Amino acid sequence: MKNLIKNFLIFFTVFLLIAAVFSLVSGGGAKSAAVGLDTLVSQINNQQVDKISISGNDIQVTLKQGGNEIVKKEAGDTFSQIVKNYSVDPAKLSGIKIEVKENQGLDFWLAAVLPFLIPFLLISVFIYFMLRSVQGANSKAMMFGQSQAKEIGREFKDKVTFRDVAGVKEAKEELKEVVEFLRNPQKFSEVGARTPRGVLLLGSPGTGKTLLARAVAGEAGVPFFSISGSEFVEMFVGVGASRVRDLFRRAKKSAPCIIFVDEIDAVGRRRGAGLGGSHDEREQTLNQILVEMDGFEPNTNVIVIAATNRPDVLDPALLRPGRFDRRVILDEPDLADREAILKIHAKKKPLGKEVSLKRVAERTPGFTGADLANLLNEAAILAAMKNKKIIDMEEMFESIEKVMMGPERKSRILSAKEKKITAYHEAGHAIVAHFSPNTDPVHKVSIIARGQAGGYTLKLPLEDKHMYTKTEYVEEIAVLLAGYIAEQEIFGEVTTGATSDLRRATSLARKLITDYGMSENLGPRTFGEKEEMIFLGREIHEQRDYSEKVAEQIDKEISNFIDRAVHQAKGLVKSKQEFLEKVVVALLDKETLEKEDFEKIVGEKVKEE
Ligand code: ADP
Ligand code: MG
Ligand code: ZN
Repeated sequence: MKNLIKNFLIFFTVFLLIAAVFSLVSGGGAKSAAVGLDTLVSQINNQQVDKISISGNDIQVTLKQGGNEIVKKEAGDTFSQIVKNYSVDPAKLSGIKIEVKENQGLDFWLAAVLPFLIPFLLISVFIYFMLRSVQGANSKAMMFGQSQAKEIGREFKDKVTFRDVAGVKEAKEELKEVVEFLRNPQKFSEVGARTPRGVLLLGSPGTGKTLLARAVAGEAGVPFFSISGSEFVEMFVGVGASRVRDLFRRAKKSAPCIIFVDEIDAVGRRRGAGLGGSHDEREQTLNQILVEMDGFEPNTNVIVIAATNRPDVLDPALLRPGRFDRRVILDEPDLADREAILKIHAKKKPLGKEVSLKRVAERTPGFTGADLANLLNEAAILAAMKNKKIIDMEEMFESIEKVMMGPERKSRILSAKEKKITAYHEAGHAIVAHFSPNTDPVHKVSIIARGQAGGYTLKLPLEDKHMYTKTEYVEEIAVLLAGYIAEQEIFGEVTTGATSDLRRATSLARKLITDYGMSENLGPRTFGEKEEMIFLGREIHEQRDYSEKVAEQIDKEISNFIDRAVHQAKGLVKSKQEFLEKVVVALLDKETLEKEDFEKIVGEKVKEE
């Protein structure tokens, strides 16, 4: 449509220009003074006129003593009529050369052509537009079937290699094989090795799946077709399937290459499990992927890499040998990995001299690669906002908390009473955490709202931990409940501020019993059949594999654990009340206590080894 208007405008402008050129040429170019008809008549009567030439509505007058004049006449009136009307002496006219020129002025052109041209143009524009829209719909329907895979060619500008991916050592090892295969496939076929078809990358969001897939392509120096699972899913049934066909056709043409299907769970969900109308489409798309992968000639050098963070929902058919037979798990980075990731992302950022990425890594347990990249970016933004040229530790720490808990919400003004309650609540968490022998040390206590939380107490482990004991868990629950307990002990009742603490404490208590077998009464077994691979941190669906009676027992055990934790927390809040009060005073005064401030009040943490 825009094009159409543009074309029309261009056409029209050209037309106007041609007309203008014509009128200029015919106008002779000489400058003429414009005068009225009566002047002309009197000039004729005074025999001052040498020559008259009439073109259209213009009368060009050349005077005897030199000089030109132009006189406009009414359209329709002829010169002889004017002469008659103004009673010009015919004898005086005889001395004047009169010529009638063919009319070529702009007006003439416009007047002559436009009445025909406008309807003609309108009609042709109309027809053109109709044709186009019909064609457009057609061509769009054709485009639908084509995959929108972006091809990243061999000479990709900022090529990603394994060096840009920190950590995930096992995954990199595993993928080196794939790279080797893409580089020289005959080495493998000579010894009769079947080539890998599909590699499935599994890992929580942000662990670097997409990055790693690109690194494989970069290492192998082969083209890389990247498409996201959700792009296959369209409104029309069959479109996804034809996109898959098209994608594989294109890929086979440029073999050896990599097809990367990001977020494959969008199409690769268990078939027949969908609700609503869309699952037909998904099934067809998934079937097509399976057909294409099966249809590879033994030595088609196309490797399909797919990524997902929901391996539990994938269709088992996808995981069969010959399809995504290799599964590569990307773990969340540990301390050393985090430091390495930070190093990679800090390369282009000017860091202050005292910045220690190791200390940042220590403070960020549970952060994924994406979180860490984000953290550095936030720190850079903070530094820029302060008009600093380098990023200091201060900005690093600030952005850690921002990434962890959302931005500070200083604008949320608490009333004096709310502030006091929040102070006791957070001081409760902090005191119980500090005096429980097995918990992580308190890093920061604050009554400034952050994200969803009204205030927060930040504990950080001294090292990465992979195992927890029951004692530690019970203490953990006690810390979670400490805010609630403190409110209750001091004010005699609790507020809504403790809701999420309670929920987390309850679900932790349930896990102790159903997943970790930590209840003496129920014994070493798990309860509830989880869909596979809960290690990615999410339980999707639970099926009961126990009786009503056991369910009742579990509930009772949850209460037992909670009671135990409440008892511990209450004991500490009471016995350490003098510290609690001091922390509250400090919090009301400063709003935020760093580790050092806090330990000045309560002493250094004594941790049991
Ligand atoms: P996923 O696909 O697993 O959700 P991405 O690969 O998109 O995660 O990672 C997002 C960003 O996080 C990457 O672009 C990269 O900047 C950073 N990142 C994640 N993991 C790593 C890693 N192991 N090493 C370096 N950077 C990483
Ligand atoms: Mg991704
Ligand atoms: Zn709390």
